Amino acid sequence: MTTLLPAAEAPIYYLLWFDTEDYIEPTSDDAALRLATDLENMGVKATFKIVGEKARVLESRGRKDVIRALARHDIGYHTNYHSIPPAPAMYLKSLGLLEGAAELERREASGVTDLRRIFGVTPSCYGQPGSSWGPQANIALRRLGIPVYMDEGSHIGLNDRPFWYMGLLHMFHLGANSMRADINAPSKLDAAKKRFDEAAAKLRAQGGGFIHTYYHPTEFVATEFWDAVNFGRGKYTAPSDYRRPNLRTKESSEQTYRILLDYVAHIKKQPGVRIVTARDLPQLIDSPHSLVDVNEIRGNLLRSIDVNGPHSPADQLLALLGFQSMDVDGPTARVDSTVAATSIPRDLFNKGRDEAVEFIEAHKRLPSHVWFGNERLSLADFTATLAGDQSGPTVAVRRGTLGFEKNVATDPRRTYDWAIHPEGFEAPELLEMARLQAWTIKPARLR
Ligand SMILES: [Zn+2]
Repeated sequence: MTTLLPAAEAPIYYLLWFDTEDYIEPTSDDAALRLATDLENMGVKATFKIVGEKARVLESRGRKDVIRALARHDIGYHTNYHSIPPAPAMYLKSLGLLEGAAELERREASGVTDLRRIFGVTPSCYGQPGSSWGPQANIALRRLGIPVYMDEGSHIGLNDRPFWYMGLLHMFHLGANSMRADINAPSKLDAAKKRFDEAAAKLRAQGGGFIHTYYHPTEFVATEFWDAVNFGRGKYTAPSDYRRPNLRTKESSEQTYRILLDYVAHIKKQPGVRIVTARDLPQLIDSPHSLVDVNEIRGNLLRSIDVNGPHSPADQLLALLGFQSMDVDGPTARVDSTVAATSIPRDLFNKGRDEAVEFIEAHKRLPSHVWFGNERLSLADFTATLAGDQSGPTVAVRRGTLGFEKNVATDPRRTYDWAIHPEGFEAPELLEMARLQAWTIKPARLR
């Protein structure tokens, strides 16, 4: 049990991040420099999630000044090419969990290597381009040494708070706690500040929490997105034909910087608010593993397999099988039960259970189903049956309900809506995979 701190002491952590991606419009380099410099002068560290191609372009344009200014902030990763088709969700949707992870790693590894070379650090975090999200990315990111997923999206979330998913710390789907000041509307700035204060007060009353804001440096110099102009609705444009986006006037651009800095200055002076970067997050968040009391969870699992306090559904199933503090992925497929009998003889049940244990040890992944002779139980039914096992000569077969799947979006069109995806693009396959992997979801709690 954690004790809630008195409201006045409950920490509010604020993350300001910039998707630094426009490798076409050269003045967006100056925007990145200006933002990095002005924020540094204010004593604010932001996270710049940088596209591999953007980093290479900064290098080839000789912008050591920009690279040095960004390197004094935190550096995250935002894909190798961002909007050049196919975007991640486009190629991931026809691949399974493991093949998709391998393919994302193949496409992205050189971008991470380039960021390491150019900025001298392994990126602290990753976020997808637009809404081009796929669960396979998490496995690839673990292999690439990136521990945090930081973005906004509606594909998966846990009560508008940070969460663990597939072994990565997710600052994702913060909902009402994701906010920004409209850099085009000075008249709306006061309302934006008030929105921050209200969200902070609400989180304080709940013992503290996280708020984040994101922008793109290119927004401060251009009136349209660099990629919508060249890669809108999935079209491909060769580098020789790249079109520059329409630019702001000098006055309009100055106004955007003023609004942002005014907004951040307001946040910075709020008592109890600490501005942090993605690199700080692992130190601010409690260990993802705490001991599961097996007897405490059985009843809940029989009603609904769901997140239980700090424990993921996978943590609970693993505890029933004798594992504690182990990271696994969810199953690769949804496989139905074929067991028609109402009970399974003890010896046969134990044999299936032991095979499940061996599978998990071998693959570091939950099985999609468990065999009892030639009949099988789905992972959900196996979990419920295990939870209800009373050590008798037979084990009553129970049907599991997957309560945790409610944390994954169900609208495959709206969740993937993005100006760079082809018209009408949808990826129900990736949402289904997200549901399977949601066995691993659990809250990320403040240390
Ligand atoms: Zn982006």
